[in-house]
Amino acid sequence: MEPKLSLLFAKDEIAAAVIRLAAEINRDYRDKNPLLIAVLKGSFVFLADLVRQLDFPLEIEFIRLSSYGKGTESLGAVKMAPGAPSHIKGRHLLVIEDIIDTGLTAAFLLDYLGRKKPASLKLCSLTDKADRRRVLVNIDYRGLTVPDKFIVGYGIDWDEKYRNLPDIYALGQ
Ligand code: 5GP
Repeated sequence: MEPKLSLLFAKDEIAAAVIRLAAEINRDYRDKNPLLIAVLKGSFVFLADLVRQLDFPLEIEFIRLSSYGKGTESLGAVKMAPGAPSHIKGRHLLVIEDIIDTGLTAAFLLDYLGRKKPASLKLCSLTDKADRRRVLVNIDYRGLTVPDKFIVGYGIDWDEKYRNLPDIYALGQ
């Protein structure tokens, strides 16, 4: 049986958040030629909308991590998938995430990237599930604050489904 979905953020609300974040990033990164590192797969729709609002030279890399199985609870362990970008020393890095939940994934990734001696390292996340945090993570560019619910849509999946929905929904409410 398909789980019930309840609307959390309609596409207009998401678009407004993306425009606000882009304005902040446009202000901070002009002339820095940053490398945006998008975490697959959940951030792909956000990234696509965000970069089209950025009006300065930039580059994009994708990174793949694994922290979730098929369920809705974090497994705790985070791993870097093969093919991580290598030429990041001295670059201005901006990590693009879909969700910061416990913070374990972002903490791992920021630590991993920080060891490669970038010129700067910041984090942009479309959503923030602040109530669920287990480790401290500084979100430099924060989109939407999400309650403690499992969300899907706008690139974010449940068992690979629902990524194509234009709005963000809570699952099973
Ligand atoms: P964290 O390590 O911060 O607990 O989790 C980060 C990752 O867990 C996210 O990038 C996402 O892949 C997954 N995640 C956390 N909360 C949700 C959620 O509500 N929905 C979905 N689909 N994934 C989530």
